[in-house]
Amino acid sequence: MSDDVYVRRRKRAARRCRETEADAIVCFPSRNLQYLTGYTEEPGERHQLLVVPAGGDPGFLVPKLSAARIRDATSVDDIRTWSDGDDPVVAVRELLADRGVRAGHLLVDDTMWARFTQDLRTAAPDATWGLASEALADLRIRKDETELAALREAAGIADTVVEELRELGADVVGRTEAELADWIDDRLTAHGGTEPAFETIVAAGENGAKPHHHPGDTAIRTGEPVVVDFGTRVDGYPSDQTRTLAFGGTPPETYRRAHEVVREAQAAAVDAVDPGVPAATVDRAARDVIAEAGYGDAFIHRTGHGVGLDVHEEPYLVAGNDRELEPGMVFSVEPGVYLDGEFGCRIEDLVVVTADGVERLNTTDRGWR
Ligand code: ZN
Ligand code: ZN
Repeated sequence: MSDDVYVRRRKRAARRCRETEADAIVCFPSRNLQYLTGYTEEPGERHQLLVVPAGGDPGFLVPKLSAARIRDATSVDDIRTWSDGDDPVVAVRELLADRGVRAGHLLVDDTMWARFTQDLRTAAPDATWGLASEALADLRIRKDETELAALREAAGIADTVVEELRELGADVVGRTEAELADWIDDRLTAHGGTEPAFETIVAAGENGAKPHHHPGDTAIRTGEPVVVDFGTRVDGYPSDQTRTLAFGGTPPETYRRAHEVVREAQAAAVDAVDPGVPAATVDRAARDVIAEAGYGDAFIHRTGHGVGLDVHEEPYLVAGNDRELEPGMVFSVEPGVYLDGEFGCRIEDLVVVTADGVERLNTTDRGWR
């Protein structure tokens, strides 16, 4: 990604501050910081705060020992340092004062550790506080071309691994869920993914009835449905898709019927995606198909979630969400049927809303074979 992308995003963030009557956004190491600077780091005990004011230039307070690395990695001009032994609250106060935001309404990163928010309060006792997402969620919810390119590539890698998984066929029988999950993670990396986007789910037979099952030592049996849900990251952006597959044999008729219902529900939901359509309408489209087939009580989660730097973010496809879909939004469509003690079935693809409809980012076959 070129620096221009991040300069542009910081300018749009400043504009969003003005629109939401906030005076600044204050980020610490997080997905929001990554979105605004391209810089990623695990949060640590040292103060590292980016201030994006509604007017004027951003300032980035960083520990002295990280400064060279952060200067190389970001296009923020004002990078100022504090050293071990200094009082970081003094440095925070100076940064806020320089930017004219020691009072007013400040938006702190949603995941900022409490110790840093406490120091912010000490440094700016007269300020009022909100969450960075109040300004940033609206920017992050629509993906730009750079983001879409990364999401497409990540989805393509997941699709390739699904195809390889199908080719294994009967070879999967006898392997444990955990072994197959490891195999999937290796293949994702082999195709260029940087890290699993979340813990890979392999849920065999009745384990499939638990949507977030952790793969264990259950061995996969001939012809039983196995829920496989995984993704990888490219340039920080994840994939997330699910197939429910049977290896080396044909699953029982009760399962095949449920699978067909889920497939129809997924297709109906994707068909419902259009600019201007409320998110809840897409959820309703999937739910109606499943309810009509008699499995209404077995569809125990929302139909989908937005996907960006966070694997779960807005927009959520859930009853009651009237938010209208807009071009550039990317989300999963993943209805499922879960029958306790029997099996689970979920089919999940990522889609992007386009100017005149929808584009699927995952395109492999959705059948159980
Ligand atoms: Zn998933
Ligand atoms: Zn998902």
